[in-house]
Amino acid sequence: MNAHDSERIKGMLESLGLGEAPSQEEADVLVFNTCTVREKPDTKLAAYLGDAGARKRQDPELVVAVGGCYAEAQRERIFELYPQVDVAFGPGSIPHLGDWIGANGEAPRGRFGTHEHFAGDLPMHRERRYSAWVQVSMGCNSKCAYCIVPAVRGREQSRRPGEIVAEVTHLATDGVKEITLLGQNVNSWGRDLRPELDTEFGELLRACDGVEGIERIRFTSPHPKDFRDPVIAAVAECDAVCEQIHLPLQSGSSRILKAMRRTYDRGRYLALVDKLRAAIPGLALGTDIIVGFPGETEDDFAQTLEVVEEVRYDSAFTFIYSPRHGTEAAALPDQVPEDVKHARLERLVEVTQRIAAEKNAQRVGSMEEVLVEGRSRTDATLLRGRTRSNLTVNFAGDAAPGQLVAVLIEGSTSTTLRGAQRTAVAA
Ligand code: SAM
Ligand code: SF4
Repeated sequence: MNAHDSERIKGMLESLGLGEAPSQEEADVLVFNTCTVREKPDTKLAAYLGDAGARKRQDPELVVAVGGCYAEAQRERIFELYPQVDVAFGPGSIPHLGDWIGANGEAPRGRFGTHEHFAGDLPMHRERRYSAWVQVSMGCNSKCAYCIVPAVRGREQSRRPGEIVAEVTHLATDGVKEITLLGQNVNSWGRDLRPELDTEFGELLRACDGVEGIERIRFTSPHPKDFRDPVIAAVAECDAVCEQIHLPLQSGSSRILKAMRRTYDRGRYLALVDKLRAAIPGLALGTDIIVGFPGETEDDFAQTLEVVEEVRYDSAFTFIYSPRHGTEAAALPDQVPEDVKHARLERLVEVTQRIAAEKNAQRVGSMEEVLVEGRSRTDATLLRGRTRSNLTVNFAGDAAPGQLVAVLIEGSTSTTLRGAQRTAVAA
């Protein structure tokens, strides 16, 4: 979601006549798009703003803007904490950036933007020509005890289906082949449009699948509680919807899941995995896992490892629990010591990487449909692309970016595949 917001911020600035500077040192306007889900990005921002402050002392004309969830969370204090900041804006107010930063890069001091808007209709600077993010909802109505998102992104608001399909159609005419539908809780989309509009996420997937030119559809992040039958059926039946699902687990212990307020337990999660795998052959599963939630014992953590071994994820984002001010979990007793959290993370990463490596090795010898993105980042003689399961493949071939080609897989690591192009599947 932040990457998508950054593309919109870039697009907005370009529409004001501001171009990307070759380096930070040469920029007249510095814009930081922030995340505040964990503490680490907050610390990083402090360091960047320290550098920006030093530059501003030498060049008072420099404009410093801070956007995103950190700005929203600190809206009362940001100008006090960081006097070098001229403009701050929450994630819902990117459309108004132009009101605060003029065409010549001037900005009034101490402005905080709070309007709530979908970024969908804004100019956009896409980093990848053939893939695009499409925001379908903003905010989140869940109350996960560890999470700051509902506080900074507000209650869930679904975008109207007509608007979404119009954007997807526009992207397709612009040559985009792959879209990723975005929402904090993407598969609860549509609930707030009722009763005026009786719809749900499966219907949206089918509508996007009907857009000519769109070859691949992904979505992130779904919540296990909202994976209802019509959504599963749509994933199984729509040709363009990829056999790849990100299904955040968070913990394998039902006791911890309850304390997290995730509204499912281990048994329900595993039953959903079985159901998804039965309905969608070749499904690649990814997940998010937090270690060291308050009160997590060695036994709870062992249960997380058990679920990981049982599900065998193709990929996993693993996080150390980070207390966020104002969330329910930050006030819980029994915070887990830092060294224990780090040791658990290390053990978890070892298991998730081993399993991912084993699963990728099983793909050696198979033929994969690859959407070509460009040259390999590590070897310019090779091309780079992605499989439907969302794995990066470096391969020998002569296809152009945006083409779908068949690649014979010849090697693998825990995160990438290697191969050779066989035929052009489609233009
Ligand atoms: N809405 C999505 C969901 O429910 O899965 C993802 C939202 S969150 C921005 C992405 C991931 O960050 C979560 O799935 C969770 O694993 C992790 N996360 C959120 N808050 C965290 C915290 N306080 N400490 C560590 N990880 C956290
Ligand atoms: Fe945060 Fe996701 Fe839970 Fe919403 S569903 S509160 S975004 S972790």
